[in-house]
Amino acid sequence: MECRADFHCHSTASDGILSPSELVKLAYEHGVRIMALTDHDSTEGVEEARRAAEGYPDFTLIPGVEMGTDIPGGEVHVLGYFLEPGNAELQETLQRLRDSRRLRGQRMVEKLQAMGVEVTWEQVERFAGDGAVGRPHVAQALLEKGYIDNISEAFEKYIGRDGPAYADRTKLTPSEAVASIVRLGGVACLAHPRDLEDLDGVLADLKAAGLAGMEVHYKYYEEEAVKRLLDAARRFDLIPWGGSDYHGLYGEDEPFPGGMVSPLPDESIEALLRLGRERAAEKAR
Ligand SMILES: [Zn+2]
Ligand SMILES: [Zn+2]
Repeated sequence: MECRADFHCHSTASDGILSPSELVKLAYEHGVRIMALTDHDSTEGVEEARRAAEGYPDFTLIPGVEMGTDIPGGEVHVLGYFLEPGNAELQETLQRLRDSRRLRGQRMVEKLQAMGVEVTWEQVERFAGDGAVGRPHVAQALLEKGYIDNISEAFEKYIGRDGPAYADRTKLTPSEAVASIVRLGGVACLAHPRDLEDLDGVLADLKAAGLAGMEVHYKYYEEEAVKRLLDAARRFDLIPWGGSDYHGLYGEDEPFPGGMVSPLPDESIEALLRLGRERAAEKAR
C-alpha cells in the first residue's frame, strides 16, 4: 500500500541506486509528499534532495541519516531526523563511522613503524583487497616482512589487545548514536527492529538515551510484526514511525518509496512533523 509519508529512503549518497533528485521525483510520482532521506552514515545527498524538493511546492523533505552501530554480536541501525548537514560535530561522527575500520588499520601501522617495524599501509591494503581492513591483514604484512613466523604471533607480539601496536576501533554504541542525535538537535528513531534478539533491552537503553520513536510500519512488516512492535512502542512510550527503506537494489518486488504493507498512520506522520517544527523553533532561539 502507498503512504503519503516515507521516513526511510536511500540514495547514491550511500547504497541506493537513484541520485537524491531522482529519488525525490520517484517518491513524488508514487504519492509521497513527506520524505526523509536517510543515507547510511552520510548526509551528502541532503543538499541535492532539498533543491529537488523545491520543485514540488507540496513536498516536504526531512534531512536525515541512518547510523550503523554495534552491539555484542550484532548491529543496530539508528535513524536521525532534522540533523543539519552543515554541523561539524555531526560530520565528524559520520566520518568516524565511515573510517573506523580503515583508521584503525592505519593507526596500527603507524604504531608499528614508530617501533621500527617496517610494514606499510600499502601492504595491508593489498591483503585487505576490497574488503574492510582488519587486524589479520596487518598480521599478514608482518609475516610477509619476516617479523613473525605465523599469524598468531602477530597478535602475541604486536597487535593483540595488550600489544604495543594495538589500536581500538572507534565504535559507536546504539545509545551513543541516539545521544549524539539528540545533542545535535535531531530526533532519533530505531530502524527495522523486528529481528533484534533483545528488543526490550535495546529499547530500555535507547529510551534512556533519548530515543523518540521506532520503526513499526516497515516495507514488508506484516500485521503480526506490526502488532508486536506497536505494543513495544506503547510500553516504552515511543512514536511508531517507519518507511520503505527504499534502495532500488532489490528487483521487481521491492516496494517503491511510500510502499509499506501497513502504512504510517496520520498521527505518526504529524508527530514527526511537529517534533521537526519544535526543533527548528529551539534552534532559532
Ligand atoms: Zn538499516
Ligand atoms: Zn536503511
